[in-house]
Amino acid sequence: MRRPLVAGNWKMNGSQAESSALIDGLLEGTATVKNADLAVCPPAILIPLVATKLKGTGIAWGGQDLNVNASGAYTGEISGPMLRDFGCTYVIVGHSERRSYYGETDEIVAGKYGAAQQHGLIPILCVGETLEEREAGTTESVVARQLDAVFNKHGIASFAKAVIAYEPVWAIGTGKTATPQQAQDVHAFIRGKLRALDAAVADKVQVLYGGSMKPSNAAELLSQEDIDGGLIGGASLVAEDFLGIGRAAN
Ligand code: PEP
Repeated sequence: MRRPLVAGNWKMNGSQAESSALIDGLLEGTATVKNADLAVCPPAILIPLVATKLKGTGIAWGGQDLNVNASGAYTGEISGPMLRDFGCTYVIVGHSERRSYYGETDEIVAGKYGAAQQHGLIPILCVGETLEEREAGTTESVVARQLDAVFNKHGIASFAKAVIAYEPVWAIGTGKTATPQQAQDVHAFIRGKLRALDAAVADKVQVLYGGSMKPSNAAELLSQEDIDGGLIGGASLVAEDFLGIGRAAN
């Protein structure tokens, strides 16, 4: 049985005061979330504040991106060892916003996935198709290509210490959610691909859904056989909404 993970991607949002209030709200209600693990991924500059507030609580935290290198002359970048130094458990890699706005190729994402694991972080590997790709009937081949880049570089065994997030790009921040069946179909495809390589790893790896998940649609999505939690953008910025998604797994 896979325990669900509900992870918040705060993106580029939040002052110190807002982030502090958001964490306080999460801590007040965290006991109501019984059947899911919670994690938040704040902007890098807010990680120290979040780490201080969450240390010793049941809520984990992580980064939104990392550089493939451990240190050096890479102005503006954050490395895996830096994230670990601030107690991060997770780091998101290959989010569609990074792929589309910052030109991150499958190859670059695979490098970041490896760097995360090398430095003791659990990568949350995002995959997903654009609207054009879905309409062209290429959803599975796009997701397969994104996964193969990582399988080929790091092997199936590496997924014992990774999380996958299926995020249809057309559902991110748009208010359009994949139907539970549309999401389940792709999740089953992903798990089937893993199973063909290693059944034990396939049974263990958490495959999250991301794309306009909110308390009102979470229960149905989370009840699908192969959906093991959510990667949450907008709704992770409101404590009660994020907790409500966590409770939907109860
Ligand atoms: C995301 O960016 O990972 C995401 C799922 O965003 P939203 O929930 O806002 O669609």
